Amino acid sequence: MSILLTGGLGYIGSHTAVEFLENNQDIVIIDNLSNCNIDVVDKIKLITKKDFKYYIGDVRNEDLLEKIFSENEINAVIHFAGLKAVGESVKKPIEYYNNNLLSTLTLIKVMQKHQVKNIVFSSSATVYGRAKSMPIYEDFEVTATNPYGRTKLFIEEILKDLYVSDNSYNIVILRYFNPLGAHESGLLGENPNGIPNNLMPYICKVATGELECLNIFGNDYPTKDGTAIRDYLHVVDLAKGHLKAIEKIYTNCGLKIYNLGTGIGYSVLDIVKAFNEISGNKVTYKFSQKREGDIDVCYANVDKAYKELGWKAEKTLKDMCESSYNFEINNKKNR
Ligand code: NAD
Ligand code: UDP
Repeated sequence: MSILLTGGLGYIGSHTAVEFLENNQDIVIIDNLSNCNIDVVDKIKLITKKDFKYYIGDVRNEDLLEKIFSENEINAVIHFAGLKAVGESVKKPIEYYNNNLLSTLTLIKVMQKHQVKNIVFSSSATVYGRAKSMPIYEDFEVTATNPYGRTKLFIEEILKDLYVSDNSYNIVILRYFNPLGAHESGLLGENPNGIPNNLMPYICKVATGELECLNIFGNDYPTKDGTAIRDYLHVVDLAKGHLKAIEKIYTNCGLKIYNLGTGIGYSVLDIVKAFNEISGNKVTYKFSQKREGDIDVCYANVDKAYKELGWKAEKTLKDMCESSYNFEINNKKNR
């Protein structure tokens, strides 16, 4: 019995693959390498000293999925595969709808054919838009402010409709807040192409001298230091959340939605300060204009995941900074 990880060679998928293998659970991966490198396969094997099957190809390719479900005994799917850059999604909406929606529909079609009714889906805190208050609970209203967010919202709706049509499905929707950090080995981490959009990859490149200075987007938000607040969680904690989600699935849980975050809000300046403490003040910054579409504050209430999944993020902001920096240095050496 195996768990299929779509997009399993990406940032969150690869860390999750490690957690499953280290927990002696068989996995199969499908990834089209659109946002990762094939060498992640060897890195996962090196860390875990375990083997696994993988297929290089697109989740929208029904024939390939058919082959995967025929060749393997898949009993659950964790669906990570998708495009995830908000700014790019505004410029290329159709590409985002095509990739994210069609991959999900094709996946469900083939799952149905093979009577596989267990799925964990990677959703995002973005579905809360500008929440009415903090912290954010799972039953808050959902909305979307850009095409990426709309794909997450639509897929959540599709999964809810699927469950209404057949309540023998077990569906766990995980709404991730802001994952940061890297594997302690320094082998796996977030490695975006070109100039990073996200905060931590950008900070890391300033620290190694690849980029000159961090632009902090906005310093007049209504927060303690004027910079925006997010709920950052360590990617290894997040990966462990998927083990718990699969355990939940095996209890025939029906449809469930969980926030995965720490419940703590850190400002951009908190992150920079924590990073500078571990790196010896390597990150210079200046304040610049707010980024369009950014919200001021976003952090989760995480009680539901703790009560129902027995999951809680354990790693600290220092762990997130140290592991990110370690990965960046390692990765730079090997580029
Ligand atoms: P990632 O880009 O590192 O990983 C996604 C993987 O999916 C990549 O390896 C990519 O090559 C693959 N992929 C994309 N489209 C595919 C397709 N059609 N067929 C096969 N493979 C395909 O992203 P990530 O950060 O690991 O995110 C994983 C999931 O979590 C995504 O769905 C993302 O939207 C969601 N998410 C991420 C974050 C975040 O901050 N990283 C936050 C909330 C939600
Ligand atoms: N941010 C910043 N400078 C950067 C990248 C990000 O000040 O170069 C800020 C951004 O405005 C937000 C926070 O850092 O307040 C987290 O941004 P990120 O893009 O990592 O995640 P988001 O919450 O936008 O998905």
